[in-house]
Amino acid sequence: MRVFFDPVALRHDTGPHHPENKERLAACVAGLENAGAEVSAPESPARTLASVEKVHAPGYVRRLSGTCAMSPPQARDRTFSLFDSPDNPISRATFLASLRTAGLGLAAVDSVLAGGGPVFVSMRPPGHHALAEEAMGFCFLNGVAIAARDLVESAGATRVLIADFDVHHGNGTQDIFWEDGRVAYLSVHRSPFYPYSGAVDEEGEGKGRGTTRNVPIHGGASEETYVGGFVAALESLSERFRPEFVLVSAGFDAHRSDPLGGMHVTEHGFFEMTRRLRDVADVFAGGRVVSFLEGGYDPEALAASAVAHLRALQGLPERASD
Ligand SMILES: [Zn+2]
Repeated sequence: MRVFFDPVALRHDTGPHHPENKERLAACVAGLENAGAEVSAPESPARTLASVEKVHAPGYVRRLSGTCAMSPPQARDRTFSLFDSPDNPISRATFLASLRTAGLGLAAVDSVLAGGGPVFVSMRPPGHHALAEEAMGFCFLNGVAIAARDLVESAGATRVLIADFDVHHGNGTQDIFWEDGRVAYLSVHRSPFYPYSGAVDEEGEGKGRGTTRNVPIHGGASEETYVGGFVAALESLSERFRPEFVLVSAGFDAHRSDPLGGMHVTEHGFFEMTRRLRDVADVFAGGRVVSFLEGGYDPEALAASAVAHLRALQGLPERASD
């Protein structure tokens, strides 16, 4: 089980009482290590910044890096350290952590293209709400979008699938590929809920028409509803789109213990959604899959869910004793 993680991600400080904190990631990585995952931190490819700027406007990237450079190491003074949104406190290392997340995502893509097995990029801040020129929803740089655009522009891929089972709609990812038919975006999420996008009739436009697929689920719906909705949409979209590479926005905040999500998914549900993702990757994409950590705000549930996700990515049984 391959996990990419760099401790710089723990230096992105969001201040006291913020759900997206370093403790959640530390718990996730510890849980993965205890389950036998091989955790490493390969170098970011030399093209990382250039690849970031193929998704985010260079002016936005400069504004983020410059503001972080002037910020204190800890996000104590909230009026000084907010970036674009009250949800997005920053500290000095926020840009470094965001850039390294993107870099490890690109390193994961390179490794998988070279024949390595699936990789889980266990980093923060998350990315799927980040727009080309705006931070929101705890996200600054959209790591999964950067990897997808790199696959089409550097590696020549023509069909990349991003599947997102975070409880929140990945509005940033959807927006970035809205008119790009080379990257399909599938999201299951609670609705109505932050960020209040992701309706069924949001399907993309132009060359991207039909390559955005949203599965909104009412708050409090059963695990079967959430998982079943994801799997049905995944299978129909994949048969039509035939992805050459599968990227995952793996948020675990639909877990029943999550303080933000309000849904009923368990580790079993995350295992099941991932098992079906792996099937799609095996059938269409030669097993090529890279997954990015997005949300998940109960540290214990996050760790257990990430272990289930990794086991399914590797084709292992749900529990070690099975
Ligand atoms: Zn989320």
